[in-house]
Amino acid sequence: MQTRFTAAQLAKPEMASSESEIRKCVHCGFCNATCPTYQLLGDELDGPRGRIYLMQDMLENQRVPSPEVVKHIDRCLSCLACKTTCPSSVNYMHLVDHARAYIEEHYRRPLIDRVLRAVLAFVLPHPKRFRMALGLARFGKPFAPLVNTMPGLKPVAAMLALAPNRLSPPLSPQASCAASSKGRVVLLQGCAEPVLAPQVRAAAVRLINRAGYDVDFASGEVCCGALVHHLGREDESLQAARRNVDVWTRQIEAGGLTAIIVTTSGCGTTIKDYGFMLRADPAYAEKAARVSALAKDVSEFLASIALPTGDGRGLTVAYHAACSLQHGQKITDAPKRLLIAAGYAVNTPAEAHLCCGSAGTYNILQPEIAAKLGIRKAANIERLAPDVIAAGNIGCAVQIGARSAIPVVHTVELLDWATGGPPPTALLSMQSRSPQ
Ligand code: SF4
Ligand code: SF4
Repeated sequence: MQTRFTAAQLAKPEMASSESEIRKCVHCGFCNATCPTYQLLGDELDGPRGRIYLMQDMLENQRVPSPEVVKHIDRCLSCLACKTTCPSSVNYMHLVDHARAYIEEHYRRPLIDRVLRAVLAFVLPHPKRFRMALGLARFGKPFAPLVNTMPGLKPVAAMLALAPNRLSPPLSPQASCAASSKGRVVLLQGCAEPVLAPQVRAAAVRLINRAGYDVDFASGEVCCGALVHHLGREDESLQAARRNVDVWTRQIEAGGLTAIIVTTSGCGTTIKDYGFMLRADPAYAEKAARVSALAKDVSEFLASIALPTGDGRGLTVAYHAACSLQHGQKITDAPKRLLIAAGYAVNTPAEAHLCCGSAGTYNILQPEIAAKLGIRKAANIERLAPDVIAAGNIGCAVQIGARSAIPVVHTVELLDWATGGPPPTALLSMQSRSPQ
């Protein structure tokens, strides 16, 4: 694509990066075929190619974004299916991240939208605040259908509807050593996952220990910044990235850190991008690149080491590939291979490349599109009639779990169970099928 950015614009690293991605696009439109919003809405401006046009026009001409442009960019899930499909290797992620930050800086959203986004950014990245908010949401849950009819409050209704009926008690992160250590890893503590599903971290610790690695938790670590990053709040996401880079650099310099392990793939995609996000900061560029290189999704790490084999408990698993894992990190087969090696029968649903509609805060901010995608995903999975659904991202687990009666668990919970751990909480009723 031809561009006309000025030399002064290109002196800014974020503009230079976006210009180089826009130039790679050859308008072929292949990406539209795998874009969930294009598939649902059928509007060129709700597909990647159309959005690239909008972003080019906005950035190149330094326009104040119009409500129409913001609408089409906001409808993008950042699922990155287009990045996987694109034959010209357009890095759509960096482009849309820049566009979101530009919109945040140059566009004044309606009041309700501003308040909602500020509340999400204030609450979600902080486990204590999130837990408290979910506690309060329980009382509002019965009123979700009523709130849904009020102008501008559909996102609040979506939030209430998605809130779980009850929460497990919090589990404090505790370092844990392997019987015979081959190395040491740091496990990301996360923000939403430990509140919604604390059992995932516990299963990951047992599994990693069983594979022969000590597990540590880094004190001073904060949310990875993905949630605010996708809201366009660039300063907050960079602040979180710098803080974590400092914390993990101390861990690296203390010696012998094999990997930084992430159990929520949405976070992993962002941490693996810290090197890019902080590339123009001389004090952090090198350290951030080192941290990104050490970051590994838990399935990626486990697939690279020798895991004990398991008995699979006679179950059939439908594997749901989170977009952040399959498109963001290009990890496609590792989780399925691990589950098969652990003895499970594994099936993949139709349209596995399509997003379930969770996408960070998307299922709150764009509830109608998200609900359509969630229903479509759950239906495709249920057609397989599995005993259990495995996913590597808490957002997907909540989104699909709200639309299916089939239990949804994290891949590591199944691997842990098959190799000697306790059954996943969601599967306790199936224990009778266990050979033990
Ligand atoms: S990130 Fe997903 S929703 Fe956004 S343009 Fe690409 S394929 Fe479409
Ligand atoms: S597939 Fe790639 S090159 Fe083709 S229109 Fe989409 S972004 Fe552009």
